[in-house]
Order: sequence, then structure tokens, then C-alpha cells
Amino acid sequence: MLVRTNYHTHHRLCRHAQGTAGDYVEKALALGFKEIGISDHAPHAHFDDDTRMRLEELPLYLADIERTRGLYGERIRILSGLEIEYDPATDAYYESLLEKVDYLVLGQHYLEGDPVKNGVSYTFDLESGEDLIAYAKIVREAISTGYFAFVAHPDIFLATYPRFDEHAEKASRIIAESAKEHGVPLEFNANGIRRGLIESEDGKHYHYPRKPFFDIAEDAGCKILLSSDAHNPKELYDDAMRKAERIIERWELTVCETLSLDDR
Ligand SMILES: [Zn+2]
Ligand SMILES: [Zn+2]
Repeated sequence: MLVRTNYHTHHRLCRHAQGTAGDYVEKALALGFKEIGISDHAPHAHFDDDTRMRLEELPLYLADIERTRGLYGERIRILSGLEIEYDPATDAYYESLLEKVDYLVLGQHYLEGDPVKNGVSYTFDLESGEDLIAYAKIVREAISTGYFAFVAHPDIFLATYPRFDEHAEKASRIIAESAKEHGVPLEFNANGIRRGLIESEDGKHYHYPRKPFFDIAEDAGCKILLSSDAHNPKELYDDAMRKAERIIERWELTVCETLSLDDR
């Protein structure tokens, strides 16, 4: 096993994952992990609410993690986190969340807040070179705030774009350079492997992670963090994780095992 940690772990409160904090922690203990961060999809008033916990459920979530810490905290380090979109209009909200949890994960699935009002801006619908650059710029802005401990699936913006062209390269560089500058790790996300292979003009590849993106990140000297993005306790170490480990080896990437929350 390449790493015995996982900082991207969901919870049944988001409505598309299974398991409580205790279920994930028990699985992590069985796997011999030394650290786990629970980071379910946070409520956010400006984004769809059918794939994330509701605001009134946040206290239940935090209490569940706290209870789990009480039960298992001496055997494994348990961190509380939330995965969340960035919308610059709500900076005070991130600050308030950081008073409640140990860390936030940037999971940018939209170009901007309120996608219903602003038209389609889902990351799986990005079509033009300008869309990619716009996505990279919002990620860069998010990184620069210091609110986020790492960037989840930083190459998700490539998933439905037809080829890795000069726009894709430019967008990748924008993200990699700001991650390097601010010391924010970029995630190598095994959930993109679970989504399966797709075919683009570049050939067959997983939705993400993508080699040209990680070549740029590695060259820029970015920290790379392997995560399961587990939506089920058994995904903490499954076939997708084993494939991820083999790909990391083949692409000659350096991954960090522990998420440092101090050096930001
Ligand atoms: Zn999810
Ligand atoms: Zn996630």
C-alpha cells in the first residue's frame, strides 16, 4: 500500500454516499491506516442541494465525527473536513466553517455559484478553451484564499474536453503554478478511475487523473496527494485504489502520505 491515510472520505448525509464516520474509521483501522479525514460535501446556499448535506444537518455530521473520535481516536488520528465549492461571494462562510472543522477541500464542480441562474457551468460540460481557463482561474483564486487544504480532482475540468490542447495545457499550468506557490497539494483522485475509461482524441484514458496534467504538476514541484474519494467504506482501498497506485508508479509521480495542516 502506497499510503496509509485518506483525507477525502464521504458520509451518507450527502445522499450519494454510504456509511457513517464510524463505518469509514472502522474500515481504515482494519486497513492499518494511521490517519483519516472525513470530508463530506458541505452545504452551500449557492449550489445544488441534492448532492450535499443540508445546512441543518451540519451539526449531526460534526457530532458523528466527534463521537467516532471518542471511540477510536486513540487508535487512529481522525480529522474533520468538508469538501466544498468556491464562490468568492461567500468568504465569510468558509471562515465560519473553518472554526468548526480541521480543514476544507476544494471540490470545484461548477464555474460559478448559482448555476441554475447563470446557465450551464458544470465541470463535465466544459467545451471551449475559454471555459477551461475560466475554471482554472476560479481554482487559482480559491487556492490563493488559504481556505483549502488541498484541491480535489484538480484535472476534472478535462473530463469531457475532447483533447489536451494548448488551452488545456494553459489551464493546467495556472492551477499547478498557484498550487506550488501556496503549498496546496493537488489530489490524485481514484474516483475518476471508478468512473471508468473514456475515449477522446487523445485515446483511451480515465475521466481523471490525466497524465499530461500530472506531468505539469510534477514538473512545477507541486505536492501530490493520493485520495480514494470514498463514497463507501470499502472504497478506502479497492480496485480503483490499486490501479491508482500502479499509475502513480508508471507516471513516476511523488506523492505525500500526510496532509500537513500547519504549513499554509
Ligand atoms: Zn460525492
Ligand atoms: Zn468528493
